[in-house]
Amino acid sequence: MPYRAPAGDIQFILDHVVPLAPVSGTARFSEATPDLAEAILTEAAKLCDTVLAPVQRNGDLTPARLENGVVRTSPGFAEAFDAIRDGGWVSVCAPAEYGGMGLPQCLNMAIHDMMSGACLSLQLSPLMTQGQIEALDHHASDELKALYLPKLISGEWAGTMNLTEAQAGSDVGALRTKAEPNGDGTYAITGQKIFISWGDSDLTGNICHLVLARLPGAAAGTKGISLFMAPKFIPDADGNPGEANAIKVVSLEHKMGLHGSPTCVMAYEGATGWMVGEAGKGMAAMFTMMNNARLGVAMQGIGVAEAACQAATEYAAERQQFGAIIGHADVRRMLVGMRADVFAARSIALACAQAIDMGSATEDADWVARAAFLTPIAKAFGTETGMRVSETAMQVHGGMGFIEETGVAQFYRDVRVTAIYEGTNGIQAMDLVGRKLADGGEAAYRILEEIEAGAEAARGALPDLAEEVWAAAETLREATEWMVSQAPQDRQAGGAPYLRAFARVLGAHFHLRAAMADAGRQALAAYYIRRTLPQHASDLAEARDGADTVFALSPEALGL
Ligand SMILES: Cc1cc2nc3c(=O)[nH]c(=O)nc-3n(C[C@H](O)[C@H](O)[C@H](O)COP(=O)(O)OP(=O)(O)OC[C@H]3O[C@@H](n4cnc5c(N)ncnc54)[C@H](O)[C@@H]3O)c2cc1C
Repeated sequence: MPYRAPAGDIQFILDHVVPLAPVSGTARFSEATPDLAEAILTEAAKLCDTVLAPVQRNGDLTPARLENGVVRTSPGFAEAFDAIRDGGWVSVCAPAEYGGMGLPQCLNMAIHDMMSGACLSLQLSPLMTQGQIEALDHHASDELKALYLPKLISGEWAGTMNLTEAQAGSDVGALRTKAEPNGDGTYAITGQKIFISWGDSDLTGNICHLVLARLPGAAAGTKGISLFMAPKFIPDADGNPGEANAIKVVSLEHKMGLHGSPTCVMAYEGATGWMVGEAGKGMAAMFTMMNNARLGVAMQGIGVAEAACQAATEYAAERQQFGAIIGHADVRRMLVGMRADVFAARSIALACAQAIDMGSATEDADWVARAAFLTPIAKAFGTETGMRVSETAMQVHGGMGFIEETGVAQFYRDVRVTAIYEGTNGIQAMDLVGRKLADGGEAAYRILEEIEAGAEAARGALPDLAEEVWAAAETLREATEWMVSQAPQDRQAGGAPYLRAFARVLGAHFHLRAAMADAGRQALAAYYIRRTLPQHASDLAEARDGADTVFALSPEALGL
């Protein structure tokens, strides 16, 4: 059975677990009524099932290639992208004044979930473009907005994000690309960027690169970085693609997966660029794009987990070994565990999207802080879920999981990078226990109060499950108190397990909500709360151990 986009599951979450209602209750998103949401999810699911999923294997089997300096995409990708563009799917959350639909991220991210499950490597292109639209909308001059936004929003042009250089990965401040004033308001950009997703393609009429670079004499580190728009073709007087800019695709990276997405080494050879935002404020502007993309990458992990889970369940029902393997306890354990994990990760990510929407619609500081707190959790946990579930799906397939023709290995190979790009999951954990706890834990405690209140409300109907969730929230509260009182090094040594534990407890809270709303969801919630939630205790024990044990072994003791 082919991939089926989980519109029904998403709809349930938006109705009962992380409701869309408060979002559509704001003036800004009043058009996002339940009827519209349902119609959009249904249409997006149709696109995913009938257009995107059928080309997913093509990306793996016939990767994007570089031909005479131009990227040629995998068979069927151009037609599939046309359907994305013609359906207006790039424009879902873009500003209405430039042709966008102005809908909430709750819906946009739900669509990314489904698109990622259908064809991850293609979904990455509109995700990058949407991030660029948001960055330009917030930071660019009116002239740049008028020139670029309508074309990006319509999907006629695509956007990319150029941070990484060979010596500047997580430490973006180490980048060396230069931007020298041309004296006419433009800049000459010179340098090499690596790992640029969709740095070139034959899908769109122009490709707009947002590039981080340094002005002459700029301060060292991130403070000296500015942001520039450098299009592949410089728009002419009518705003149409004109003269070719001095930008080259040097090569495509050879990757473990995600072969349908061209990952480019880009050379900027005095390319003409326009500054976006203020000099020296490039990182802040790029963060607008990155935050959006971080949640989009969370959806990538979740979407692939969904697809892998579906494939494994179907295989287990058909494969006969001492009867259908779906009847064996260990196989069933894997399948139910996968399904429960996907639900938890999806609910967390949609809760983050909801907080982003509420924050932008109301400018309420608590919503803004909640969105900021949930972003690293959604990104790291969503992508870990993608890896874990696709790896388990391979196990369910037995030897056939290791054989490429079943396609299940592709899920794992494709999704693996999601834990690495858009800020590695290690960087997400540092962000959580550093900047996101810098408020003394206030945003975290507000979420813990919500979890405890949810457990209290469930005590009458589901006392055992409610008690487990309540007790886990208490343990997490103690660990949070410990975290906020520690030195940075000790927090960081426990950041990754703390993040995972937070996600586990929050996931259990959402499962409990689902079980309260629909008795049919109780079995899945019970599985998660009894079998998966307990892992939070060992994660928190590790989280609270501090840095001493980590540094007790010297590099020499590690074998250097
Ligand atoms: C397929 C693919 C597509 C990509 N697309 C893009 C793109 O479109 N645009 C773009 O600009 N970049 C892109 N990237 C780059 C990506 O964002 C980087 O690979 C990522 O940020 C990590 O940087 P790095 O690879 O240099 O790893 P490093 O920074 O060298 O990290 C190596 C390890 O050290 C850890 N680490 C590093 N610093 C710290 C620290 N201070 N504390 C704790 N741990 C730390 C990391 O977590 C990681 O585990 C892409 C990468 C890939 C593989």
